[in-house]
Parts: sequence; C-alpha cells; structure tokens
Amino acid sequence: MSDEKTPVLRPFPNSLCHRCQHLRVVESAKGSVFLKCTALPQKYPSQPVLLCPAFQPKPAESAS
Ligand code: SF4
Repeated sequence: MSDEKTPVLRPFPNSLCHRCQHLRVVESAKGSVFLKCTALPQKYPSQPVLLCPAFQPKPAESAS
C-alpha cells in the first residue's frame, strides 16, 4: 500500500510510458505495481517500452 508520503516505486523507470498520458500505474492488493496502457489493445505491453506509435506526451505539470 502507499499514500501521499510514500509514493509507489515505479518499475522500469526508463520506460517511455512514464512520460505518456496513456499510462495508469496500477498497484495490486499485494503491493505489486504494474504499468497499464489505456491506448493499446494489450493493456500491459512488454516493458520497458522504448518506442511506441501511440505515445502522447503528458501535459506540462506546471506552467510557471
Ligand atoms: S501509449 Fe505507448 S507509451 Fe503510452 S502508455 Fe501506452 S504503451 Fe506506453
């Protein structure tokens, strides 16, 4: 389990998915973390993803 003070450790930090707006990080009841894609037919593509035709960059988190 995690809360705001203990962020989930994300697997495959070099994956392109972490910079993509289609990524959902899913944590199982046992604490395992999975990278779920909401754009591709296969919801859990082989990681790490280095190239992806469906990649959409996340919007900037802050505009200052
Ligand atoms: S669209 Fe591609 S880069 Fe984005 S989350 Fe899905 S697999 Fe990863």
